[in-house]
Amino acid sequence: MSLLSVRNLVIDYAETRALDGADLDVAPGEKVGLVGESGSGKSTLGSAVGRLLPRTARRTGGEVLVAGEPVFDLPPAGLRRLRRRQLGFVFQDPIGSLDPTMRVGAQLRLVLGRGADVSMHLERVRLDDPRVARAYPHQLSGGMAQRVAVAMAMATSPELLVADEPTAALDSQVREEVLNVVFSLAADAGTSLLWLSHDLPAVARRCDRIAVMYGGRVVEHGPAREVLGKP
Ligand code: ADP
Ligand code: ADP
Repeated sequence: MSLLSVRNLVIDYAETRALDGADLDVAPGEKVGLVGESGSGKSTLGSAVGRLLPRTARRTGGEVLVAGEPVFDLPPAGLRRLRRRQLGFVFQDPIGSLDPTMRVGAQLRLVLGRGADVSMHLERVRLDDPRVARAYPHQLSGGMAQRVAVAMAMATSPELLVADEPTAALDSQVREEVLNVVFSLAADAGTSLLWLSHDLPAVARRCDRIAVMYGGRVVEHGPAREVLGKP
């Protein structure tokens, strides 16, 4: 039984067909890397999982099921519940996921509920300096801000985390720290991971399975060694 099932999905922008019959399945607890060159449709597919597409995007065919629920046919309340309880998102720019006007601790508390142990959630992403909770997002380094975004996205132990190029804006050492945190939290919570990246070797090292996009479709998928053509 798939946790995420994308079936023959077609998404159009005004002049571009971004997805042209994309198919993808992610099983519970599975770590899937979605790779492909820039413009192949990764972000559109990742955003479609939570129906977080730009307003100019139109779904003109196919469907997305999360835990059997048809994301594009849910009423607003059902969609909000699905996003809040079952899905987490992390994007390339962590600042975009964070509220610039609120201290880190306050925004985590908003997601976690009153009485929550904010410092414990920050420690889980290896931010154990108490100054982090009192900081505003722009006062943090890129790597720290991304770890806060990961803590926010994973706060509710979602069933699926969609990570869209979460390290593309970071330098290589910080990159590994962020990925370590993403993978260890996902493993602890049993969260499935859909990691969008153009870094095939990085994805191959960490994921159970790789799906390759080209021209708005998933053209190949399987275990890393099969996709890479290794014996
Ligand atoms: P990737 O994440 O693999 O780079 P995208 O999903 O961002 O691919 O883009 C797929 C196609 O859709 C590309 O041709 C891109 O230019 C187009 N596209 C993406 N976002 C928009 C948008 N907001 N408006 C118009 N075209 C878009
Ligand atoms: P990525 O490949 O990492 O998704 P892009 O630079 O392709 O990043 O896209 C960044 C943003 O610009 C996204 O929000 C995307 O929807 C938008 N975008 C991408 N291509 C186009 C396009 N042709 N026209 C308008 N917006 C676009």
